Amino acid sequence: MIKVLPKDVADKIAAGEVIDSPVSIVKELVENSIDSGATSITCEIIKGGKEEIRVTDNGSGIPGDQVATAFLRHATSKISKAEDLKNLYTLGFRGEALASIAAVSRTELITKTQEENVGTRIIIHGGITISKEGIGCPVGTTIMVRDLFYNMPARDKFMKSEAAEAGKVIDMMSRLAITRPDIRFTMISNGKTVFIAGGNNNLKQTIQAVYKDRDYNDLIEVSLGNPGDTIKIKGYISRPSLTRTTRRSQYYFVNGRAVKSSALEKGVDLGYKERLFEGRHPVVFLFLEIDPAKLDVNVHPNKKEVRFEDDIQVITAVEEGVLSAIKSERGVIQGRDTYKQVSADHAPKQECHLKEMPPEKTEKGRQLDIKEFLRTKEEEAPFLSSEDDKPDSGISFGTPDMDSTHKPFSFDELVFQGALFGTYLIATDHDNFYLFDQHAAHERVNYENFVKAYLEGSKEGQLLLTPFTFDVPLDMVETGADWINVLNEMGYNVEAFGDNTFLVREIPVFLSLSEGEDFIRSFVDSYNEEIKKNNTLIIDKLITKACKASIKANDYINGEEIQALIEDLKKTENPFSCPHGRPTFIKFSKYDIEKMFKRIV
Ligand code: ADP
Ligand code: MG
Repeated sequence: MIKVLPKDVADKIAAGEVIDSPVSIVKELVENSIDSGATSITCEIIKGGKEEIRVTDNGSGIPGDQVATAFLRHATSKISKAEDLKNLYTLGFRGEALASIAAVSRTELITKTQEENVGTRIIIHGGITISKEGIGCPVGTTIMVRDLFYNMPARDKFMKSEAAEAGKVIDMMSRLAITRPDIRFTMISNGKTVFIAGGNNNLKQTIQAVYKDRDYNDLIEVSLGNPGDTIKIKGYISRPSLTRTTRRSQYYFVNGRAVKSSALEKGVDLGYKERLFEGRHPVVFLFLEIDPAKLDVNVHPNKKEVRFEDDIQVITAVEEGVLSAIKSERGVIQGRDTYKQVSADHAPKQECHLKEMPPEKTEKGRQLDIKEFLRTKEEEAPFLSSEDDKPDSGISFGTPDMDSTHKPFSFDELVFQGALFGTYLIATDHDNFYLFDQHAAHERVNYENFVKAYLEGSKEGQLLLTPFTFDVPLDMVETGADWINVLNEMGYNVEAFGDNTFLVREIPVFLSLSEGEDFIRSFVDSYNEEIKKNNTLIIDKLITKACKASIKANDYINGEEIQALIEDLKKTENPFSCPHGRPTFIKFSKYDIEKMFKRIV
């Protein structure tokens, strides 16, 4: 039997499609405020919006006799403004936001138009109108949405933590604010002002007011396209010296809407090509204006991913825009960039360390060096044994033999004979010859110390003579308590230092100052709500990037230091490779060597 669903059931089903979290409500409400011609919009949330969302604007207001209608499904005043149904769809005017929101919360709306002497207040609980009355109020609209999903326990469960929901609201408001620098936006969470931005139509100032990142003072302007062009690009991007380990600081907008787009990302990457180290991403605020006919309209209005009819055209335009912007500032690395440059350089170099070996140091070079080395090192290295053990061949011999399935590898039998090129340690046991990569070995040791200290929540820190500060994105300010604990448990001492700046007084004992700073940077770059103490996968990735060996290739280390390093390596869980997957040592059996000298065939 076919039945028409009762109104409240239908409302709840429809609401589920549009409204699934505080952030989706804020988006609808603030977009309504923007549509109403407001020049000032305030969004206030309590407990991530679960307890209350309040959006106040100074826009047109709703005439008293239309207030009830506004809450009816498919009620909209905007169809006449939109040119056709396609635009109607892409802009998301479906006239159901207010109806849906009121169906799943206790909603109160207070509004007044310029023409009216008295405003109107309406209260709706779970879709049922409780009261509607006249009230004195300023021109504009205030809507309060309380007890979200109080009548939908199933959906209530799907909401994230208050801090996570607050983070999403703030992120969305930040994006809305920078798409409309002509409107003054105020964001308040739990009574605390997160930002007040815009209103003077200055994009760069708005970005700074919203994101409050000191690094953003240096952004370069992008501007491409003339009136009438099918594609126009504007925005701000970072110099090649300011990069992040993720795309988290990249914000893309198409026709004024925040989007995700692989075509825009690709264009940016191509524009920066060769100016950035692998795995680094610039900071990007990019606004693309394009003829709406060139957009794929089949993409749902609430989906952020946007598709273009002609990807290549968009990619090329963005590449060109980015390229001309960074060219204009060509290669100007400023004094204060030096630190950033160094840290940007760091990670990839460390990972490509093997490639740094000069290519000419092969074959013949190696033979000579070994002899030379053994002669000069003899006095300095008392544990050097007879010259009989030295391999004297340039043949690229041996393969990593990590096969320890039969019996565990015994470090105790190793006798160290010295070092090679200041990089490789030579060791033997009765039947084998080993080359240890001291850098890789040290990385492994550092890495496991780091992970261990992290997992054990060891609180050992070293006090810094000069504390340093760092800035974080605003959604991280919201969730501060969560991630500061994570860092503090590792041995950091991090405390709030105003707005979105934090102060570091202590770093873990096993890190050098630059390692400690680097780690914080990648931590902030890659932070997301998934990072929890036990999410070792993500933490591993971070640590792998951040941890550096204090011994570098080409540092001669003495006998005692060698013993200490190998002792430490022995204690690691995986002594056989560095965290990036390179071998820490390579074994050559006596058999391999005998074969090389054709003693056996
Ligand atoms: P839509 O925005 O798709 O028209 P909504 O349910 O979001 O549908 O809003 C319904 C109507 O209520 C709008 O068309 C508009 O006329 C009116 N309205 C909603 N919010 C505001 C506001 N903040 N200021 C003025 N009018 C508003
Ligand atoms: Mg709307």
